Amino acid sequence: MDHSVPVMLIATTDPTSRRILGDELRRRYGADYEVVTCADYAHGRAVLDGLRRWNRQVALILGCYGPADRGGLEFLRRAYGFHPAAKRGVVVIWGDFASAPTVFRAIARGYAELVIIRPERLRDEEFHGAITDALDDWHLAQGVGFEAVRLIGEVGDERTHALRDSLSRNHIPVGFHPAGSEMAERTLESVGLRNPVLPVMVLEFTAPPIVLENPSDLEIAEAMGVTRPPPADKIFDVVVVGAGPSGLATAVYASSEGLSTMVVEGEAVGGQAGTSSLIRNYPGFSRGVSGAHLAYRSFHQAWTLGTDFLFLRKVEGLGTDGALYTVSISDGSAVRCRAVVVATGVDYRRLGITPLEDLVGRGVFYGATVSEAPAMAGKHVCVVGGGNSAGQAVLHLAKYAKNVTLLVRGPTLSVSMSEYLISQLEATRNVAIRYGTVLVGARDRDGFLAAVEVAASGAADATPGEEIEAGGLFVLIGSVPRTSWLPDTVERDPAGFLRTGASRDVSDAGSVRPDRAPLALETSMPGIFAIGDVRAGSIKRVATAVGDGATVVSMLHTYLAENPLPASPAARGAESTHEELTGHVRFE
Ligand SMILES: Cc1cc2nc3c(=O)[nH]c(=O)nc-3n(C[C@H](O)[C@H](O)[C@H](O)COP(=O)(O)OP(=O)(O)OC[C@H]3O[C@@H](n4cnc5c(N)ncnc54)[C@H](O)[C@@H]3O)c2cc1C
Repeated sequence: MDHSVPVMLIATTDPTSRRILGDELRRRYGADYEVVTCADYAHGRAVLDGLRRWNRQVALILGCYGPADRGGLEFLRRAYGFHPAAKRGVVVIWGDFASAPTVFRAIARGYAELVIIRPERLRDEEFHGAITDALDDWHLAQGVGFEAVRLIGEVGDERTHALRDSLSRNHIPVGFHPAGSEMAERTLESVGLRNPVLPVMVLEFTAPPIVLENPSDLEIAEAMGVTRPPPADKIFDVVVVGAGPSGLATAVYASSEGLSTMVVEGEAVGGQAGTSSLIRNYPGFSRGVSGAHLAYRSFHQAWTLGTDFLFLRKVEGLGTDGALYTVSISDGSAVRCRAVVVATGVDYRRLGITPLEDLVGRGVFYGATVSEAPAMAGKHVCVVGGGNSAGQAVLHLAKYAKNVTLLVRGPTLSVSMSEYLISQLEATRNVAIRYGTVLVGARDRDGFLAAVEVAASGAADATPGEEIEAGGLFVLIGSVPRTSWLPDTVERDPAGFLRTGASRDVSDAGSVRPDRAPLALETSMPGIFAIGDVRAGSIKRVATAVGDGATVVSMLHTYLAENPLPASPAARGAESTHEELTGHVRFE
């Protein structure tokens, strides 16, 4: 057997499931994967251990859960420790509804990533759809195979990691080769580079290959050549800042409804959602969907509908040019438009403690992630933070967890949390509050959080921490809206989120709008809209961000109809004419 062929492993004590799954997978995937079946879980673990020692790639691990086999969930949990990158699926039998709650709880705890119904007939395309989706996610994460871009850098170097992450989140096939490896040396020699400044990128899809030494984002964007600033005389109906779920939704709807639309994205499509390996609560995706896939599909949809994109460039300022807005881009160019949709999201404040960051999604969660609460049943859980969102998360988790400890850096909560929440916390039997306490580390068991390490605030770095058993850690230390590029005249709430018609008192002093109340998603500045996480009062979810993105388009139509483009020949000449055809926007 060719050792570069990835493995699919099935382990189950149920002979019928083993036969069906083995046959199905071999018949459909046998040419590209080695399908291994194991008759019990100890054997399954031994094989996984061997594969790890032989550096074999494992793409998919399947275990079963049902009346004939109760061991699959625990097997999948432990399998993570052997092959963290492999997709893990639990196979259930159609009609075994009694097993569903246990399986769903295990999925919420991260034991497996997907539930698959065992095929009962040939050509069960639903089953194969689940398998190919999982393999697709695995390939995306691995970046194996075709290398459009070859990246050479030091393992552990931050810039190299950021480039690798950004390229794969933007769906650019990238092959990473550590400095000093045979392939790295061969590549550098073939492009005539000796002692280059790392990281080096070689664009293999150009002829001759373009070579970039320690490039900036802008140099990469220019070398890629896929998205270039539009001609200076082009006027867009709308510029969307940010290609997270909300910005992409606006792009899809605006373009499909005939508005000329440009999206500017500073990092990678998908925003925060693009960093999530599995979004389980987005309607319509019962098996969950990887954030990167959801984002890429939305991007592709918007692109095919006619949206223009500018990637790896940030919006740095907003100005006016007569009745138009000008959006300043980090490459020095400016884009003119009639309206702007701010979809720049938030940055979650991170703990920055390596062992904890490594366990995100496997016991450590940023934000309240309500969907994880039932999975905390019977466990001891810690919450970090001193604000209302931390207090609400504690009360919610206390309904499920054995007990919850709130870790507060300061000596009191009264300056940061509402009194009623503090009283509720104090009255809740299974809640403890530890003041003057900071997190310093974590310990895992089989790749899942097992305990956190805490110390007294202000204690010397060398002071050993105290270990607290923790099956879950929820970090709610605040999020920062990304609005620094907007003028101060655009109203914010005290935390810096953008106020829109729905969340502000229209009689507020200082409004820039003299004539009418802002539309529901319009900021205090006419024609500047805010959607998704950056909007004051928004619900921080993918679906609500997408909802905002779709909703704002009807308001764009209203605004654009109220503010027609001046009938300047230059402006008209540069405009596309599809607005006139659709009748959404009329020129005077
Ligand atoms: C790890 C993780 C897991 C999550 N899991 C879930 C989940 O399972 N279910 C769920 O419903 N929600 C989940 N969320 C929350 C969800 O991802 C967000 O609510 C959602 O992404 C918000 O979308 P958005 O478009 O408003 O902003 P964002 O996703 O934050 O996107 C904003 C985009 O704007 C870009 N940008 C910012 N400033 C500029 C600028 N000046 N110029 C150009 N571009 C700029 C950023 O690079 C970014 O791509 C998760 C969040 C995280 C971090």
